[in-house]
Amino acid sequence: MAPILEINGLVKKFGDRVVLDGIDLHVEQGKVIAILGPSGCGKSTFLRCINGLEEVQGGEIIFEGEDLTKTSKWREVRQKIGMVFQSYDLFPNMTVMENILLSPIKVQKRKREEVELQALELLERVGLADRANAYPRELSGGQKQRIAIVRALCTNPKMMLFDEVTASLDPEMVREVLEVIAQLAKQGMTMLIVTHEMNFAELVADEVVFMDKGKIHEKAPAKEFFANPQTQRAQQFINILK
Ligand code: ADP
Ligand code: MG
Repeated sequence: MAPILEINGLVKKFGDRVVLDGIDLHVEQGKVIAILGPSGCGKSTFLRCINGLEEVQGGEIIFEGEDLTKTSKWREVRQKIGMVFQSYDLFPNMTVMENILLSPIKVQKRKREEVELQALELLERVGLADRANAYPRELSGGQKQRIAIVRALCTNPKMMLFDEVTASLDPEMVREVLEVIAQLAKQGMTMLIVTHEMNFAELVADEVVFMDKGKIHEKAPAKEFFANPQTQRAQQFINILK
């Protein structure tokens, strides 16, 4: 089976500075890949390129057979590749439900009643069905992140990108968000997850990608990576965080 996402020789520069230096990664449907690496190595930029939030200077990003570096339909692509960031990016002036309905109704032109049903189902799954009419300011950080995930899921994406979604959360809220992501993994969602939660990565990821200075230094099944990292850089990195 062809991979759902195939990245070949991806190069991203900011000015003269090379931030992604020839990234190759193939992602098969249903796989969960944890992207690890020190701060500043290019993890966020990598995810942002996949979602068309950064222009790239070289290489290909082939998603479902189409090279996204040449697409003019980013709005549509973003319905298929959902992304959740570290900062809760909910619209503060809209209720939870309005936040969730926005893309499905405005971009996907779906019927409100149908999307509302799906939204409620998803809210139920993350334990927040009773907060549909709340405003983001009335929610905890962990609740906001779960809503951000629901909002992304409600467009029926084929794949999800998570960029340190628990990094700004108090420890007691980290778990409730990670549990939602673990649930998605069980349901077979294809995911790229940037995280510093090593235990979580080991538990949920099929494969680990270790990045440093804009390059992939190691790629291995998660268990293998954590048991026996091949490069010194990865060994150090794991030891610091464990
Ligand atoms: P990570 O997510 O792994 O911490 P980033 O992808 O955020 O790393 O950043 C990779 C490198 O690119 C860093 O050196 C960062 O300073 C630089 N960078 C990120 N965004 C920009 C930008 N918009 N303009 C210039 N440099 C940037
Ligand atoms: Mg980052």
